[in-house]
Amino acid sequence: TPAREQLLGLKAVTVSFSGFLAVDQLDFEVASGELRCLIGPNGAGKSTTLDLICGKSRIIAGEIAFRGKPVHALKEFHIARAGIGRKFQVPSVFRELTVRENLEIGCSRDPGVLRNLFRFSGGLDTERVERLALLVGLEDHLDIQAGQLSHGQTQWLEIALILAQDPALILMDEPTAGMTAHETNMTAKLFNQLRGKHTLIVVEHDMGFVRDIAETVSVMHQGKLLAQGTADEVSDDARVREAYLGS
Ligand code: ADP
Ligand code: MG
Repeated sequence: TPAREQLLGLKAVTVSFSGFLAVDQLDFEVASGELRCLIGPNGAGKSTTLDLICGKSRIIAGEIAFRGKPVHALKEFHIARAGIGRKFQVPSVFRELTVRENLEIGCSRDPGVLRNLFRFSGGLDTERVERLALLVGLEDHLDIQAGQLSHGQTQWLEIALILAQDPALILMDEPTAGMTAHETNMTAKLFNQLRGKHTLIVVEHDMGFVRDIAETVSVMHQGKLLAQGTADEVSDDARVREAYLGS
């Protein structure tokens, strides 16, 4: 397989909260088309790392490059417009509106302004809305109020809303949190369908899920990258085991 080009590169990225180094000289690279899992014990700095990449928190040292250009000084909105989408744990769907209406809004609030104008001039993209619903398994729920969806279905709608913006890089923080085992399996299937078409960084603690989806797993501990490899490689790594035991 040809070498894939680097999409995201963090070099010696550091952030501290009142003197505590939550992320400490972190080097981290993701290639275009990768589905990368980021794991590590509680407090390892995983969520903070996603915050830094999407501009929600500011680095105090180092560099974050996206498509070869530094982005760490950009405002959150401009980072989103450059093509980095973030799924937060708290859903942002409109509960009173139907799934279809949520997706229509999601498809029209594309951060790419030109694409936006283009889309408005062409009216609502029904086909695109239905394709997204099918992808996340909500094709039979299009006319149901989002507030009526189960927790897992709400998460899938959230994922569809991010995909609607077609970001080059998608960041997800514990997408299976609170899901039933069945919903987690469905989510693994969904992520396997996204593989290769999107670049994703997925923070997860469910190792079964990680095993089902990841090609490469990065392990963070105390703000640094501790290990990287396949799910089997990192779970056999003595340093990784020790990090989890000590947490
Ligand atoms: P993880 O997602 O790996 O569990 P986090 O990135 O949320 O870890 O947190 C890393 C460390 O930084 C934790 O010790 C946490 O308490 C601390 N931290 C995160 N955000 C803040 C903040 N806004 N203010 C102070 N401390 C924070
Ligand atoms: Mg976290």
